[in-house]
Amino acid sequence: MAQWGDAEEWAGLVSSEGCPICRQGKPVNIIADLDASWLVMGDDAPGPPLPGTCALFSKRHAAELHELAPDEACAFMRDVLLVSAAVQAASGAVKMNYEVHGNTIPHLHMHFFPRQVGDPFEHGPIEPRQAGTPEGLRRHREIRDDVIRALNPEPAMVPA
Ligand SMILES: [Zn+2]
Repeated sequence: MAQWGDAEEWAGLVSSEGCPICRQGKPVNIIADLDASWLVMGDDAPGPPLPGTCALFSKRHAAELHELAPDEACAFMRDVLLVSAAVQAASGAVKMNYEVHGNTIPHLHMHFFPRQVGDPFEHGPIEPRQAGTPEGLRRHREIRDDVIRALNPEPAMVPA
């Protein structure tokens, strides 16, 4: 949970010296390396409650959006547009949802939630920690494969 009550620990996380993302160099489960960010999408069981859920991590440490310089913020937002379009196309989402918190890991990242008619949270807030279902995990992996293909162009064909 958030270490807001421990001012020293929280300051370390916010400043990047104690940030787990910065300490390991990058997040885990990266499926696309974009200009200003990495797209992260795991595929472990039981999977997310909303298939296609993923998160985009800024390559530059920032705890708050306003800590990015305007050109850095524009580069991050260009990546957001690419990811949003790719995830909606892959998932057939009726609506994309976006969330930026960083309450536990204050390294700038945006969550993407493809929403579907009849999804478990249609009339309330999303609870991302709710376990997915086996059918949802199968769908999540299909979406993940499609997003990987969409955001990672094929290497140029080299004549034999
Ligand atoms: Zn960081």
